[in-house]
Amino acid sequence: MEKIDNELTFLEILVFGHPLLTKKAEEIKNIDDELCQLAQNMVHTMHAAPGIGLAAPQVNKSVRLITVDLSVGEQKNEIIILANPEILNSQGEAIMEEGCLSVPDINEKVVRPSHIVVKGTDLDGNEKTIDAEGLLARVFCHEVDHLNGKLFIEHLSPLKKNLIKKKLRKQLGKDSHT
Ligand SMILES: [Zn+2]
Repeated sequence: MEKIDNELTFLEILVFGHPLLTKKAEEIKNIDDELCQLAQNMVHTMHAAPGIGLAAPQVNKSVRLITVDLSVGEQKNEIIILANPEILNSQGEAIMEEGCLSVPDINEKVVRPSHIVVKGTDLDGNEKTIDAEGLLARVFCHEVDHLNGKLFIEHLSPLKKNLIKKKLRKQLGKDSHT
C-alpha cells in the first residue's frame, strides 16, 4: 500500500504583544505523532516565511520544540529539529544584525556567544549534542530564548528596547483603531 503523507499546514506566526511569546514553554515528555506533525508544520512554515529558525511558542504552542535550517529549505540534511534544547556551554562573543518573524521589520545588532554546545532530543527520541558556531550558534541561542519567553530585543539597551517597543505597539495597534 502506498503511504500517504500527512498534509502540511502553514501555521500562523504570533507577533510581538501576544502573551505566549513572553511565557516559558513546557518541557516535552512524549514524542508522539502530534508533536512530529507540529515539527513538520513548523519546518514548512519556517521555509515559507522565510526564516532560518522557529520556536513552537511562535506558532501558539507553548512547548520546548525548535526547528532550524540555515539553508532555508535548499538542503534537506540541514534541517535540525530539537525537543527540549539546552545550551550547555557558550564561548566567545559575536555581534550580528538579527531579526525575528515575531518582531516584524526590526533588525538590530545583538551580542551572542560565538560558539555553543546545544543538547536536545530529535524526533526519534535520540539525544543529540551539536557543536555550533557563528550563525548556527546564534540561531540556537535565539530559539532557546523564545522557549524561555525572551525576544531578541530584550538583549538591547533599555533605551533602544523602549523605542522599538513603542514603534511596534504603534505599528501593530494600527489595525485595531478606527
Ligand atoms: Zn525569533
